[in-house]
Amino acid sequence: MTFRFDNSYARDLEGFYVDWPAAPVPAPRLLRLNRPLAEELGLDPDLLEREGAEIFSGRCLPEGAHPLAQVYAGHQFGGFSPQLGDGRALLIGEITDRAGRRRDLQLKGSGRTPFSRGADGKAALGPVLREYLVGEAMHGLGIPTTRALAAVTTGEPLLRQEGERPGAILTRVAASHIRVGTFQFFAARSDIDRVRRLADYAIARHYPELASAPEPYLAFYEAVAEAQAQLVARWMLVGFIHGVMNTDNMTISGETIDYGPCAFMEGYDPGTVFSSIDLQGRYAYGNQPFILAWNLARLGEALLPLLDADAVRAADKANSVLETVGARYQGHWMAGMRAKLGLAGAEEGDAQLAEDLLEAMRGQRADWTLTFRRLADAVTDAGTLRPLFRDAAALEAWLPRWRARLAPDAAERMRATNPIYIARNHRVEEALAAAHAGDLAPFDRLLEVLADPFSERADRELFAVPAPEGFDDSYRTFCGT
Ligand code: AMP
Ligand code: MG
Repeated sequence: MTFRFDNSYARDLEGFYVDWPAAPVPAPRLLRLNRPLAEELGLDPDLLEREGAEIFSGRCLPEGAHPLAQVYAGHQFGGFSPQLGDGRALLIGEITDRAGRRRDLQLKGSGRTPFSRGADGKAALGPVLREYLVGEAMHGLGIPTTRALAAVTTGEPLLRQEGERPGAILTRVAASHIRVGTFQFFAARSDIDRVRRLADYAIARHYPELASAPEPYLAFYEAVAEAQAQLVARWMLVGFIHGVMNTDNMTISGETIDYGPCAFMEGYDPGTVFSSIDLQGRYAYGNQPFILAWNLARLGEALLPLLDADAVRAADKANSVLETVGARYQGHWMAGMRAKLGLAGAEEGDAQLAEDLLEAMRGQRADWTLTFRRLADAVTDAGTLRPLFRDAAALEAWLPRWRARLAPDAAERMRATNPIYIARNHRVEEALAAAHAGDLAPFDRLLEVLADPFSERADRELFAVPAPEGFDDSYRTFCGT
């Protein structure tokens, strides 16, 4: 199998990683291969079906692979950790896909590295399949994301809090794995030369048009702010809660990365938190836009020495970008919300109209996904929408105001932008529990539904149904460690 690796990170960024091999595994088995993604990458899926267990377990790396663990730092729940890095993952190389895009291939769960900090460097089957599912769900929704190419089991049992779990490895594909925290690692060590080298590399890889800008590093900061503002707006529009928006989990490319305790919100409540470790609700649904700006401020700090030789002018420049983050986010959110609501053009009062719907949903347990989906029916008849609300009085008052703003083909347009199927927590858990018991059929079925989340079909009716009452109140997600 020819992977045609071209490992620019290893070549250009010495000192940003350590060469490291995957740990031996006793009995690797290819559990799932993402055939469409393999094809997109220019790889032969049939060959991968045969040789994937060896390759994706790290046992037998293809020619040209260069396994390495990347270093990074990061603010975790607001506190700075100067020394993080790939503690359970290895970048094995970069390949150019059919569309000419450079993509990282990473093994996640491949064993201890110098950055494992006391943990085992391994991944259990449940979290691997969860990342696979949710990443593909995001891709199906058209949201920038890392993706799963393969899942293997290693044949090695792991001890986890819940008991013994099968060990597994996820092969992850990303535009790159450069994080806000990668910049912070060198900035915290006052290694300005390396911060600059990383910025030059990131510009060349992700924003090549900026290399000739009058102030390339300022333009780069602005481009990352724009990409992340757009990303978080898109999360919010589908009710996605990342769950651990630490700066080491925010990419420079603007892709969603690190699906640990993430989940989709069902009943609308801005305070929704599922992560078992997020006791303060720092990463609650409604906080995500603020954390976006907070994290971008940390990136700005790391880039300061590149923005201007004069510290005051550098801070002014960073602030000039940071001040735009709220408006950038709001602009993307509002554009997306207009599409979700099927509005004609753009008018002053649209933000208020949207806010008033959210207000009518709040405290009603109105399901985020279904409310927007059934709103398309309500263009003519609110019969399918009303039952989603405990008390629909506020909704009834809102509907005529909304109807007065509708685009001519609103219902059709709304159904193309408001999904009917999301990765509902009880469905994800059901699929993972079955997989743990050796039955991958529910996982496959859910994956198939999530790949096509906008077309409603009678035989998929059950996947649109919210969790039983009370399920989400006690539902907790974990980081996968
Ligand atoms: P996360 O917030 O889950 O992305 O992980 C934060 C840090 O913890 C990263 O540097 C990971 O590499 C590391 N980490 C997480 N789980 C493990 C594990 N099982 N073994 C070693 N390191 C881990
Ligand atoms: Mg992470």
